[in-house]
Amino acid sequence: MTRFHLQPDLPLCQTDLPLDWYQEEFRPYAEEYLALPDRTPETVFRWLDGYVEPARRHFGDALLLLAHFYMGGEIVKLVERYGGAVADSYQLALQARDNPDKRVIVESAVHFMAEAIAILAGDDQEVWITNPKAGCTMELLAKDHMVLPVYDQLAERYGDELCVVAYMNTSGRLKALAGKTGGAVCTSSNAHLVLEWAMQRHERVLFVPDRHLGENTAHRLGLDPEKRLVLPEPRGTLRIEDVDGGLAALDRADLYLWGSFCGVHTIFTPEMVRFWQERGWRVLIHPESPLEAVLAADGQGSTTYLWQQVEEAPAGSRIAMGTEGHFVRNAQLLGARRGVEVRHLADVPFFAQAGCGCATMSRNDPPHLAGMLDLLRRGTPPDTNRVLAGDMIDEISLSRDRLDTDEREELTADARCSMERMIDVVEGAVAQSPM
Ligand code: SF4
Repeated sequence: MTRFHLQPDLPLCQTDLPLDWYQEEFRPYAEEYLALPDRTPETVFRWLDGYVEPARRHFGDALLLLAHFYMGGEIVKLVERYGGAVADSYQLALQARDNPDKRVIVESAVHFMAEAIAILAGDDQEVWITNPKAGCTMELLAKDHMVLPVYDQLAERYGDELCVVAYMNTSGRLKALAGKTGGAVCTSSNAHLVLEWAMQRHERVLFVPDRHLGENTAHRLGLDPEKRLVLPEPRGTLRIEDVDGGLAALDRADLYLWGSFCGVHTIFTPEMVRFWQERGWRVLIHPESPLEAVLAADGQGSTTYLWQQVEEAPAGSRIAMGTEGHFVRNAQLLGARRGVEVRHLADVPFFAQAGCGCATMSRNDPPHLAGMLDLLRRGTPPDTNRVLAGDMIDEISLSRDRLDTDEREELTADARCSMERMIDVVEGAVAQSPM
C-alpha cells in the first residue's frame, strides 16, 4: 500500500514548531530536536533511532505506525523507514480492522482519521495520535453541536425520508448519526457510490461537512442542480426557515449540503486551470475544490487517484495538480524520478499565496513521533493522545470530552454500521466492475 520511497539524499524540511506548542510531556524531545545541528536525514534519523528502535523492539509486531498522504515535512518517509504505512483516509480507516495483530497503533495525521481507525478497532487495540492538536479545519466547522440542531429540524419536517451521509472528515459522533439515520460514511474516492446508494433508499440526504465534495459528487451523478441546497456557512444557530428561499426551497430540494469546506482546496479557480492548460499541461484536481475549477480540469479524484496518475504518466508528461501542498511536493519527487513534471495548480503569477499544505496535519512532527513512541514504551503516554470512538477533542485547549463506556459502545455500534455500509457499497461496486 505504501507508495513513498525514501531517498537518502532528500532533505528533511519539516517546519520547526515553537516549544510552547508542545504538550509538556513532549517538550524534552522537542528541545533535543531543536538543538540538532541540521535537518539532514543522517542527523534526524540518528536522533530518532534512539527513540523509535527501542519502541519497535519493545512492541515487536504489535506496533503499527501510520501517516496520511498529506503529512507535512517528511514524516511520511520516517513512518515508512520504520516499517509503517502511508495511505489515504479510506485505507487508513481500515488499518486496525485489517491488522488485528497490531495492538498499538500510532497515527501521524488529523484527529478524525485516528478516530475512524478507533471505531473499527477491536477491544484489544489502542489508537494513539502523535499530536492531538492536529484537527481538520473542515471538521471544525461541523462539530456535532453545530450539525445536530439543524439535523433535528430537518428530521422533524421530513422524518424517515431523510438520512445523513457523512464524509470521512467528520467526528465519530456524526458518523454515528449517519449510521442511526440509515446513511453511511464516504470518502472522496467513493462519495459517488455512497451518495447514489443513499439516494436510492431515501428521498432526502443531508451531506456533511464538505459542500464542494457534495456539489462535485452530485454533478458527477447527474443530479438535478435545482434540487440541491447549500446550507449557509456555519455561524451560530441556523433556523431552517431562514435558508435562501425558505421552507419552499427546502421542500423542493432532495440534497442538503452542509456549508463547510477545506481552506487548502477552496483556493482553486477555473483561471488557474486555464493558465496551465493553455501552456500544454494536464490539470488534475481533488474534488474538495470548487465545482467550477473541477469542471474546467482534465481529471478529478482522490489522493490515491492523483498519485496513480503520476505513477502511470508517460515520461515527458506535465501535470498541474490541485490539492494539498505537501502531497504535491511528494508527487513532484515521484514524477522527477520518472521524467514527469508536476507543479502545484496555484503556482501561477496572478495568485500571491503559493499552494499551501495542510497546516494542522503538519503539527505531527519528528519530536511528536519520537516522544509518542518513547512515552508508550515507558508506559507513561498522556491520556490526551489516546483516541477512543466518540471523543470530542478541543484542539486549542486539548480538553478531551470522553463518553462513558455505555455511551461509547452505543456510538461505536452506530458509527461502525455507517462505515461498514460504505465498505459494503465499495466492495459491491468492485465485485460488479468488469475485470
Ligand atoms: S487538507 Fe483540508 S480537508 Fe484535508 S485534513 Fe487538512 S484541513 Fe482537513
